[in-house]
Amino acid sequence: MNFISTRGQAKPCLPSEAILKGIASDGGLFVPESWPVIKIDPKWSKLKFSEFASLILSYFFQDDPLQKYLPEICAKAFHFPIPLKKISADTSVLELFHGPTNAFKDFGARFLALATEKLPQRNSKKRLVLVATSGDTGGAVASAFFENTQIPVVILYPKNKVSKRQEMQLTTWGPTVRAIAVNGSFDDCQSLVKQCLVADWAQKDFEFISANSINIGRLLPQMTYFCYASLLYLQQHQKSASFIVPSGNLGNSAALLWAQKLGFPIRKAIFAHNANRAVVDFFETEKWTPHKTIATLANAMDVGNPSNFERIQNLYPKLEDLKVLANSVSVTDDDIKATIQSGKSKWKEIWCPHTATAVQYRETQKDSNYVIVATAHPAKFETIVEPLIQSEVPLPENLKLILSKRPVSIEIDPDIKELKKNLIGL
Ligand SMILES: *Cc1c(COP(=O)(O)O)cnc(C)c1O
Repeated sequence: MNFISTRGQAKPCLPSEAILKGIASDGGLFVPESWPVIKIDPKWSKLKFSEFASLILSYFFQDDPLQKYLPEICAKAFHFPIPLKKISADTSVLELFHGPTNAFKDFGARFLALATEKLPQRNSKKRLVLVATSGDTGGAVASAFFENTQIPVVILYPKNKVSKRQEMQLTTWGPTVRAIAVNGSFDDCQSLVKQCLVADWAQKDFEFISANSINIGRLLPQMTYFCYASLLYLQQHQKSASFIVPSGNLGNSAALLWAQKLGFPIRKAIFAHNANRAVVDFFETEKWTPHKTIATLANAMDVGNPSNFERIQNLYPKLEDLKVLANSVSVTDDDIKATIQSGKSKWKEIWCPHTATAVQYRETQKDSNYVIVATAHPAKFETIVEPLIQSEVPLPENLKLILSKRPVSIEIDPDIKELKKNLIGL
């Protein structure tokens, strides 16, 4: 199946090419040219998740060189549990944080890494993953490429602006993963990446793999867990659920709308945002007004200008059509705190600050049948969560292991010449 650009000016291409390109040549985002007609069998909920994911993805990779590798890639990529946990008669939590770095980004990053590894080199350039991160993305991408490929990774992160535990997930991998602490902000890191991608010297030596959430190599596998969970919920309750997704750059939200579009039993898609309200304002006013990013307790969702909005608009150009199938909400830091604080008594759960936005929405709704999407393990954000619940968050094994390693990072000023020096020898 071909993928086309949301801006309509790029040549259609197969998904494997879209994965290597990251962004379309006209600056748009890749979307499927048409929607496959899938005859959904409710019994698919009995499959292992990795088998199910491979089955759904095979509709999108028809005629693609990756098609024959999908069962192998999915089995390797998704080797961890993905529980749909019942927390009340009609509410379940889809826990997406049991992968190597304890956030949902492991799903997309691992699929992307394994897919890239299978695609033959088209030139003599050195493949390189260059990624700017404000926290979770860098860790997931580093872990995925380190464990599954020979491709080196360079991570740029703002010095002293990621949590201690997030920093350990960036800096403890070994020589093929270079962690660079930039004396500046996340925007400085992103700007360095952009400068590098267009620099002649870099173009000459490297084929860059884009590992951010606009890559369909991350989005397509994310779509499959929503398909799967919707069938599991239906099987358990004989009713379809609405899904509430903690949202930032709208990657997961777009993936959820795609799952719904394929005909899976998803009543409504709810995008739960923090104080960054661009999407919520759009639902209210029909005007798209991106703003400067506001820092919140749910920092992985601090996005003032979400990139994947372009995909949502492409799918539903009319707001009235989107509103039938989706809704959005903005949750304040005070509400995030209150939701974490009352989590144990209300639900017997410890929530991470991101997941708390979705839980807060559930708590304000009177109707039934919801799936709360839990995007990260609370132990990653212990400095926020522990004072609120007045107890320690138990550490998952993966995190325990990473915290026992020795961190190595290089410090640079936000200057492209300094970045260039640090790409030598990769
Ligand atoms: C990245 C992230 C989000 C936001 O996901 P998007 O796909 O960017 O909307 C939410 N929660 C956590 C924990 C994240 O790491």
